[in-house]
Amino acid sequence: MRITCPLCGSRDRREFHYYGGAVYAERPAADAPPEAWDGYLHLRDNPAGETRDLWYHELGCSAWIEVTRNTVTHAVLSARLLAGPERQGRSARSILTKKKPNSGGKGR
Ligand SMILES: [Zn+2]
Repeated sequence: MRITCPLCGSRDRREFHYYGGAVYAERPAADAPPEAWDGYLHLRDNPAGETRDLWYHELGCSAWIEVTRNTVTHAVLSARLLAGPERQGRSARSILTKKKPNSGGKGR
């Protein structure tokens, strides 16, 4: 499988570290109810079809990328830059602490 890094271009997937579903970047607010944290930590969809995942370009530019791919055909449909060296102030930590607008947090 090849992933097109928005900064480096098409690369072998072995250059990337898979971090899980893109919902992992949608962390609940610290004071969110236990049900929100239970869902965030334990519940994942396992779709046969289109999915969004977080990938880290470990052997490349250190960018965090959201990859949309099809789990049936293995086709990579798109790759979107979430954080990278050219986006000052958006570290990996900021990606993993981003809040949903309706999660009770105040957003970014
Ligand atoms: Zn890259």
